[in-house]
Amino acid sequence: MPGPTNLLGLPREGMREFFASLGEKPFRAAQVLKWIHHRHTASFDAMTDLGKALRVRLDMVAEIRAPEAVADRVSMDGTRKWLFRVDGGNCVETVYIPDGHRGTLCVSSQIGCALNCTFCATAQQGFNRNLDAAEIVGQLWAASRILADSGHPGPDITNVVLMGMGEPLLNLDNVVPALDLMLDDLGFGLARKRVTLSTAGVVPGIRVLARRCPVSLAVSLHAPDDALRDVLVPINRKYPIDTLLAACREFADVLPRQKITFEYVMLDAVNDTPEHARRLARRLSGVPAKVNLIPFNAFPGTRYRRSPAAVLERFRDVLMAAGVMTITRKTRGDDIDAACGQLAGHVVPRSRRVAERRGLQVAPAPLRA
Ligand code: SAH
Repeated sequence: MPGPTNLLGLPREGMREFFASLGEKPFRAAQVLKWIHHRHTASFDAMTDLGKALRVRLDMVAEIRAPEAVADRVSMDGTRKWLFRVDGGNCVETVYIPDGHRGTLCVSSQIGCALNCTFCATAQQGFNRNLDAAEIVGQLWAASRILADSGHPGPDITNVVLMGMGEPLLNLDNVVPALDLMLDDLGFGLARKRVTLSTAGVVPGIRVLARRCPVSLAVSLHAPDDALRDVLVPINRKYPIDTLLAACREFADVLPRQKITFEYVMLDAVNDTPEHARRLARRLSGVPAKVNLIPFNAFPGTRYRRSPAAVLERFRDVLMAAGVMTITRKTRGDDIDAACGQLAGHVVPRSRRVAERRGLQVAPAPLRA
């Protein structure tokens, strides 16, 4: 017998189909979506505009289940990081970043990551599996609920970035329904420009995203030429920069008023010279682009170092002088390992390579308090 259906991951269409399968009217979908996403209800019994018989039935065939927060840490700067348990062995991390009136939630899309970017902590963890739609949207649902319940002083969640663990464009079957729920008025009702998906450059995925659910796009570029990008972001060997930028230009036609963000992690003496900046500016000409410079965040075992502040400023000046809009991403939450590239969670790796690197200890590490 199949287990209960987790309604948390069902967008409007899926919810309608679910109620149709029970022989119920389509308007039940809207009622239940509002209970779940507007009122944060997890119990069918509380859904007082459904008849008693339907509520009892729902209790038997369905559930509303978010990942469970097993650790919750607050940074000196107000950034807050949760470790969410998603199954027996695995946990992912989610970060809330308050900034003035804006509250950004950084959400994970996979347990670990398979892309092996050499400067990213998540890569070291290996890959276990894709998160399902309920586990992705459940991070937002649970975080909003925890923030509301704890009477926190900061802003509500106004923006979502898929910039946590994993490569979202390698999990579109689950990411698209999760995005649908974030955008839907019956769900979280966020504007497209307030939801950003970041990719290491999975070109076919960029095209699918444009067709199925265009939201703001961020691309982890990190190098102006293929030789260097092949090393930093190995998926570049499959989808080199020209191919990637062509897909970005096509994507830009779908959301014409919005620029694509190019993320560029500043690695000391690796990709941070004025010459790199000049080459980057040339490559981006013709793409509606803005560049987001990210100071490198260190993690145990890394061989990279952060570029000095003066080098970063120089790099930015070169880009700006070439007419490329450039901002430097503020480092947030690094005291609790919540900054870009520091998310690690607990991943039971599936690949032999990672298991070997770890001396075949594939059991998860104990949970931090
Ligand atoms: N896989 C997607 C989603 C992750 S987004 C992607 O690559 O875009 C996380 C962002 O942080 C990416 O731009 C990533 O390149 C960047 N990043 C990774 N490791 C970092 C580190 N150690 N310091 C700073 N930024 C890092």
